[in-house]
Amino acid sequence: MKFTLKTKGHYHFIDITSQVERAVENSQIKEGVVLVFVRGSTAAVTTMEFEQGLIEDIKGALEKIAPEAGNYKHHLKWGDKNGAAHIKSSLIGTDLSIPIEEGKLGLGTWQQIVLIDFDEKEREREIIVKIIKE
Ligand code: ZN
Repeated sequence: MKFTLKTKGHYHFIDITSQVERAVENSQIKEGVVLVFVRGSTAAVTTMEFEQGLIEDIKGALEKIAPEAGNYKHHLKWGDKNGAAHIKSSLIGTDLSIPIEEGKLGLGTWQQIVLIDFDEKEREREIIVKIIKE
């Protein structure tokens, strides 16, 4: 299955756990793996405790590695300004695989599935969810 989300860019964090949970429930698969993938090279999917303090902390850590206001060689290619977004997408990754156990996502209590959009502008993001039976 797939779903789309409107995102604002600039470190837009969105908890997508419930959408993935619903996909797993609908599949009726009890044991297996769910793959979550965001199409695009300026966003990422990861797991984290979804709370505002940690959102700010992750943003702060990533700004040290690839600040939005930095100069990037990529900007010379297309004239866009999202070099930092591409770096963060590559580092964090655009996919996740999560075990399905007894029909449920095998996540920890404080572990949510989170989409992060790093781009410089609003986007419509496509998230692809594939469920594989064990
Ligand atoms: Zn670009």
